[in-house]
Amino acid sequence: MKQWRRETNCIQGGYVPGNGEPRMIPIIQSTTFKYDTGEQMGALFDLEAEGYFYTRLQNPTNDMVAAKICELEGGSAAMLTASGMSAVFFSVFNICSAGDHVISSAAIYGGSFNLFSVTMKKMGIEFTFLDPDCTDEELEAAFRPNTKAVYGETIANPALKVLDIERWANAAHAHGVPLIIDNTFATPINCRPFEWGADIVVHSTTKYMDGHDATVGGCIVDSGNFDWMAHADKFPGLTTPDDSYHGITYAERFGKGGAYITKATAQMMRDLGATPSPMNSYILNIGLESLHVRMERHCANAQKVAEYLQAHDKIAWVKFAGLPGDQYYERAQKYMPNGTCGVISFGVKGGRAAAEKFMAGLKVAMIATHVADAHTCVLHPASTTHRQMNDEDLIAAGVGPDMVRMSVGIEHIDDILADIASALEAV
Ligand SMILES: *Cc1c(COP(=O)(O)O)cnc(C)c1O
Repeated sequence: MKQWRRETNCIQGGYVPGNGEPRMIPIIQSTTFKYDTGEQMGALFDLEAEGYFYTRLQNPTNDMVAAKICELEGGSAAMLTASGMSAVFFSVFNICSAGDHVISSAAIYGGSFNLFSVTMKKMGIEFTFLDPDCTDEELEAAFRPNTKAVYGETIANPALKVLDIERWANAAHAHGVPLIIDNTFATPINCRPFEWGADIVVHSTTKYMDGHDATVGGCIVDSGNFDWMAHADKFPGLTTPDDSYHGITYAERFGKGGAYITKATAQMMRDLGATPSPMNSYILNIGLESLHVRMERHCANAQKVAEYLQAHDKIAWVKFAGLPGDQYYERAQKYMPNGTCGVISFGVKGGRAAAEKFMAGLKVAMIATHVADAHTCVLHPASTTHRQMNDEDLIAAGVGPDMVRMSVGIEHIDDILADIASALEAV
């Protein structure tokens, strides 16, 4: 791996053009690849040679962009997926099967919660959800003999809770299982979970990495640190022969650094096919080239918005880990000293009606069911994503009727603040 700084990897990681080759990561928009002999192709099918044969499994454009994200995270291997959800699913399903158990933070993305608590439950995989701030004893008590992974988010979407990654990693490792971290909101610019003991990182690249509302995508990165063979009985998919690949044992053949992603590519992608289009990966790469610059501005703008709101007499409360006094301020200083993300939540005094009035008055900030991109946008969960709940249920779920979630973009801060000021004036 190149020893460049993150900023340089954003621009130049994953691909070094040879003499006379394209400066940009090229779009290899081809489903198949040609070989001179059937023998050469057979070696690829047996995973004995490296190369491309069918884009559902691997594609050069996708791999170059994955390699860039791998360098950004400081991992050993990575793969792109068609969406963040497929990355989340594959990351767990690659090491679990029916009868297994997973411990997850309860403060995770709603889609991931649904995947775990409904869809994967139907597949026979059981999840225990814990408050990320539970005691060590509660965390310890959740482990079972069939527990195969621990899962959480660096900064939870939408709860904005910051996970104590080191504590959760230590608990996972004490039980011989890996910690999987969804690092979507922090991005590797602000936090690299592998440095704190996480073993696998997943991303919805749809958010800050693409950053322009242009492409849905996901990524899985392996740290290469987890020793599957040391816990061979827990992970037979990696440590015993795969009959669908002529008896290859992934952990033996590809080692700690390559086994997990090779299996996810060879089995998950082959059988489930959540492959990104090379065109989408190309667009994602353009986003990645400015990720470091955009994250800095997202964090600076969000900091100013949070401070402005906190001082405003029409605002009841503000949640943002960059604010001194926030419940997660100290923890964020440890894991993300340069900034957290651009997402803030706050309450407008006067409850639901006031929040709706405020949002209707915004002009720069647009109402959208999206977060973490260049455009400032707002969402009123009580009247959209959580609209089936009454006010009592909303409060119990931590999504009060007054709550507004704002994803602060990278427009000029004065325009964002003026927009908020005039919308609040009308409330
Ligand atoms: C959006 C999101 C996902 C799901 O990603 P998609 O690209 O929409 O499939 C997963 N995790 C987090 C934290 C997200 O914000």
